[in-house]
Amino acid sequence: MKNTLNALCLYCGSSPGKKPEYRDAAAMFGSTLAARGIDLVYGGGSVGLMGIAADACLAAGGRVIGVIPRLLMEKEVGHKNLTKMHVVENMHERKALMTSLSDGFIALPGGYGTLDELFEALTWLQLGYHGKPVGLLNVAGFFDHLVTFLGHARDEQFLRGLHHDALSVDANLNQLIHKMQDAEAPDTAKWLDRYKLAAVV
Ligand code: AMP
Repeated sequence: MKNTLNALCLYCGSSPGKKPEYRDAAAMFGSTLAARGIDLVYGGGSVGLMGIAADACLAAGGRVIGVIPRLLMEKEVGHKNLTKMHVVENMHERKALMTSLSDGFIALPGGYGTLDELFEALTWLQLGYHGKPVGLLNVAGFFDHLVTFLGHARDEQFLRGLHHDALSVDANLNQLIHKMQDAEAPDTAKWLDRYKLAAVV
């Protein structure tokens, strides 16, 4: 059965990055979601690739939902013109709300914050806390080394094949969304049974 993606969560840099391709991809991400009628859920920032994606989505008539901790909002990095802004008390609440509001997660180029959010979404998928697809938009080869490293982690038997394969990767956004629509959540119940772990969901 296909995954219905009515709302997609974007993880991306609070910096714009070095190459213009990163900024172009963030703008294209925003306008593509608007054109496809998919809500954009993100960290609520006005800066970096985050701000570019949000502005492009709004400019194209799309809906943008931000989730930002009060501290960051008060530091005035929060976007002022979103369709809806949730101001939460801390980073844990933010991640949980971003997860529940979204039908899937996509990472664009970014730093620690982006990688933290991406790997949390993957860890929760692996453990069965959610069953939503996770994708990596590999803009200008930015994630090539990460993709190679994840293959290494699988080959060295720290990542099971089905969990390695649960991350959809593509350089083209429409193809990535297509892969995520078709993605199947890993069979967590079987995995838990094999390791005689208690069910977590
Ligand atoms: P980074 O990749 O380190 O720039 O962090 C970006 C990610 O962390 C985004 O997806 C946000 O959810 C969160 N984040 C980091 N910095 C900010 C900020 N100034 N405003 C809002 N969210 C931020």
